[in-house]
Amino acid sequence: MLKDQVIERFHREFGPPERSTAKVTAFKAAGLGIVVQIDQPNREDAAYVWLPYPPDDQPVPEIALEYAGDSGRHSGTHASAGLAQGLPALKLILRSAAELNDVVAYIKALAGKSPLPVLNTTPPPIRSSAPDADSGPVLVDINAMPIAKPPAPRRKAIPRAVQREVWQRDGGTCVQCNSKKLLCFDHIVPFSLGGSNSVRNLQLLCEPCNLSKGNRI
Ligand SMILES: [Zn+2]
Repeated sequence: MLKDQVIERFHREFGPPERSTAKVTAFKAAGLGIVVQIDQPNREDAAYVWLPYPPDDQPVPEIALEYAGDSGRHSGTHASAGLAQGLPALKLILRSAAELNDVVAYIKALAGKSPLPVLNTTPPPIRSSAPDADSGPVLVDINAMPIAKPPAPRRKAIPRAVQREVWQRDGGTCVQCNSKKLLCFDHIVPFSLGGSNSVRNLQLLCEPCNLSKGNRI
């Protein structure tokens, strides 16, 4: 189970959990609350990890849902540092071990207040396959090398002032189904397609509406 892998890894990276209940296992990294949901999801092999919302304009992982404050999050998250009720938060939906590596790097950067890393998509170093490779300088055919993809840009955290304006404009309800629960900020034009963090490009959607929208505009 990915959930077990996440908990085991966090234990190794951040020390023993500070809280374990039937619903959550909570860790702390440099005063930063990290909450892994235990009771959910129960229909797929994924893991939900809650983190405090990063400071204005810091990067946000691609797999994060950006929860607005005051929107009735998971009750088990309230006792963790930076995850109190009424504060915005990130809910990361992990579906692979590769995403776990990225999340650990992200948490370490967030906890250390160092510049947050971009996704590491650097390909492994190229080795010459020439049989006499150690007899002289290695010749590498530049044209045969795969082109390194630039790191995928993370989207930026939505400034608090913009969050408040979007929340007020949308009346604290999902613009699609009028739900007042599980409200997340949605980029109308996704960040990956050039959308920005402007008030005009953001709207409130509940988590189910948000997930069913995906990256569609
Ligand atoms: Zn909705």
